[in-house]
Amino acid sequence: MRLTVVGSSGSLPGPGSPASCYLLEAEDPAGGRTWRVVLDLGSGASGPLQRHLPGGDLTALDGVLLSHLHADHCLDACSLYVALKHGPAAHRGEPRAPMPLWAPAGAAGRLARAYDLPEDGPGMTEQYAFGTWVDRQPVRLGPFTVEPVRVEHPVEAYGLRVTGPAEGGGTAVLSYTGDTDDCPGLDHLAADADLLLTEASFTDDLPFERGVHLSGARAGGVAARARARAVLATHLTPWADPDAVLAEVRSRFDGPVDLARPGAVHSL
Ligand SMILES: [Zn+2]
Ligand SMILES: [Zn+2]
Repeated sequence: MRLTVVGSSGSLPGPGSPASCYLLEAEDPAGGRTWRVVLDLGSGASGPLQRHLPGGDLTALDGVLLSHLHADHCLDACSLYVALKHGPAAHRGEPRAPMPLWAPAGAAGRLARAYDLPEDGPGMTEQYAFGTWVDRQPVRLGPFTVEPVRVEHPVEAYGLRVTGPAEGGGTAVLSYTGDTDDCPGLDHLAADADLLLTEASFTDDLPFERGVHLSGARAGGVAARARARAVLATHLTPWADPDAVLAEVRSRFDGPVDLARPGAVHSL
């Protein structure tokens, strides 16, 4: 499978990146076509996401997987809703089933309010088939198996452990933390992952309340404990020093470490 970083800026878009969004693609060994899902669809991500989809068409996605319902992880689901409802395929009258959208409880209401849709209407339920994560209950989407793992954040939030076909045959595991501080769930989420896509919002010296985010040092600690094979650090706030965050990750984890950069493609 291939991971394309669409947006990696933490908590809000930055000058060089939208908020969180990662495109995951894999061929379906049974069906012979490419499947495309996004992990999170945060503020600003739906613009550059079009560059990475066939024909620049947002509706070419097969599903949306949201770690939690903070604005920087879900708001551009409103933009995809517009493409599904009013885009060229809809105008040609082509029938399509609602797009699967998996998220914590309350996503349908949350997104309808975000777009300011009438409270007594269908909201986005004609465009999205809303599914609700249940902790550690895997969901199948084409060639992907996605296991949500409850993590520690001020709202209901999940890390996503995605198993899919590996580029060289067999299977590969991508573990995406979403937003979280260090917690026991991360040991399960990241265990022996081929790639740990982990938030590392800032450096350890920042006086920030616990229970919200990982620092570079805590992210590196998770990777070492879980024996992840490689780390991609992401969700750095626009005011974080990337070199300092990377140095913290490397101080705890001796495998390969890189920064999630918009447009970068990683094969697993
Ligand atoms: Zn966030
Ligand atoms: Zn958050």
